[in-house]
Amino acid sequence: MNCKKCGACCIAPSIATPIPNMPGGKPAGIRCANLNGRNECALYGQAARPAFCLGWQPSPEVCGSTFEEALRRITALEHASAPRDRQRLGAGT
Ligand code: SF4
Ligand code: SF4
Repeated sequence: MNCKKCGACCIAPSIATPIPNMPGGKPAGIRCANLNGRNECALYGQAARPAFCLGWQPSPEVCGSTFEEALRRITALEHASAPRDRQRLGAGT
């Protein structure tokens, strides 16, 4: 499927590795500092773009048909699969 640029995959997941403008990584549920106003990644094509983001692929199962649906599904995946360090990051503690 084509990405609808809803932005949910740059908000819902936690990213444990440092990202430009987010040196401590990205907590779950927080909008990435590199997501611009058109929901495009400002790091696209740059070496600093996290491996997590490089590996992300849009899919109907995860993205659904609306931003809210994608946010809900990705948040559920985050909670189901996050190892302890990512859960801590997501909890902001
Ligand atoms: S959640 Fe899916 S549709 Fe939305 S921006 Fe990410 S890949 Fe694209
Ligand atoms: S680095 Fe880019 S692709 Fe990754 S979460 Fe941030 S805005 Fe999204």
